[in-house]
Amino acid sequence: MAKILCVLYDDPVDGYPATYARDDLPVLDGYPGGQTLPTPSAVDFTPGKLLGSVSGELGLRTFLEAAGHTLVVTSDKEGDGSAFDRELADADVVISQPFWPAYLTAERIERAPNLKLAITAGIGSDHVDLDAAIRHGVTVAEVTYCNSISVAEHVVMMILSLVRNYLPSNKWVLDGGWNIADCVARSYDLEGMDVGTVAAGRIGLAVLRRLAPFDVRLHYTDRHRLPREVEEELNLTWHPSTADMVPVCDVVTINAPLHPETEGMFDDKLIASMKRGAYLINTARAKICDRDAVVRALESGRLAGYAGDVWYPQPAPADHPWRSMPHHGMTPHISGSSLSAQTRYAAGTREILECWLEGKPIRDEYLIVQGGHLAGAGAHSYSTKS
Ligand code: NDP
Repeated sequence: MAKILCVLYDDPVDGYPATYARDDLPVLDGYPGGQTLPTPSAVDFTPGKLLGSVSGELGLRTFLEAAGHTLVVTSDKEGDGSAFDRELADADVVISQPFWPAYLTAERIERAPNLKLAITAGIGSDHVDLDAAIRHGVTVAEVTYCNSISVAEHVVMMILSLVRNYLPSNKWVLDGGWNIADCVARSYDLEGMDVGTVAAGRIGLAVLRRLAPFDVRLHYTDRHRLPREVEEELNLTWHPSTADMVPVCDVVTINAPLHPETEGMFDDKLIASMKRGAYLINTARAKICDRDAVVRALESGRLAGYAGDVWYPQPAPADHPWRSMPHHGMTPHISGSSLSAQTRYAAGTREILECWLEGKPIRDEYLIVQGGHLAGAGAHSYSTKS
């Protein structure tokens, strides 16, 4: 019997919700491109409930306990004495969400001799030391596509909110003001701007598709070029590198995974090559940007705005400079954890667990590391240090 350790974010401060804003969720047929939605044998939760917090338990307890397994759920993940560290010692499986990442460092993997499977309930497994997972034969899997559209919607929201100066304008209303000039002195139309994405994978392409009707000029860079018919349909300009693309863009959105090639990519030098007054949106991973270079660029006016939902570390400390820098539209890491997305990644997590517990293959599109190598989706999008 297996011990499954699940690290989830805390319940709301007012307690686990008894009611919800809406009665149901739209039913989707599948993902763009034809990938099927998660296919567990069953689920024990009501779609639309809060599943990603500690009391939501990703809807896994009934299923796991009925089969005789042990499920431990905690939000306590920081420091050596944390519940995560204690429980990890004899855990077979760790489940974690990028929003509240249980950092599976090389040292922790060393200290977890039973660990065989690390599941990311979401997308983005950079909180797992993939080289260490490869060395120790730990399988790493994530629920590919579960929240790609959720993030793409968040990106579009953040682009519009920065360009149109939405958040400061809303603040004037909350403060009882009617300060139109204060609101509009930094407000522009997106129409006609050049918008570029670093990476055009599931999220990046979904962002491009959603922005096309805004009559903007669309750009992208990616290690693999999109099919010619997609480039023509969306009137895309491809650039061979990020450095080639960013100088022509008014808005840049980052949608690449964090790995050695992308870490620290947006440093002082790259940001200095951007147009004065460009907007930078990063919902991918914080470490793709140099934290202090972003602050400097906002203070100097090189960037007109920065928004995103990814920080390092997570949760971000109270004095993290991105909380107080000018002209930002940051949220906590929430874009991929809407109630809609939670339903899909809870079902996907169960699908992965069912496969693993029954000795059946995990879908290739969910695999990041298996059998001591990058595998499946991981072999396509990630790189290792070695
Ligand atoms: P995909 O794997 O579909 O797409 C990633 C794309 O990035 C691929 O097309 C890949 O290229 C490309 N890429 C990798 N390295 C580079 C590079 N050095 N330069 C340019 N392009 C590169 O992933 P998703 O679109 O689903 O997700 C992207 C990332 O977004 C995730 O890795 C995760 O970090 C983040 N994310 C954030 C969420 C949030 O809640 N904020 C939720 C979900 C994801 P190719 O395959 O062509 O080699």
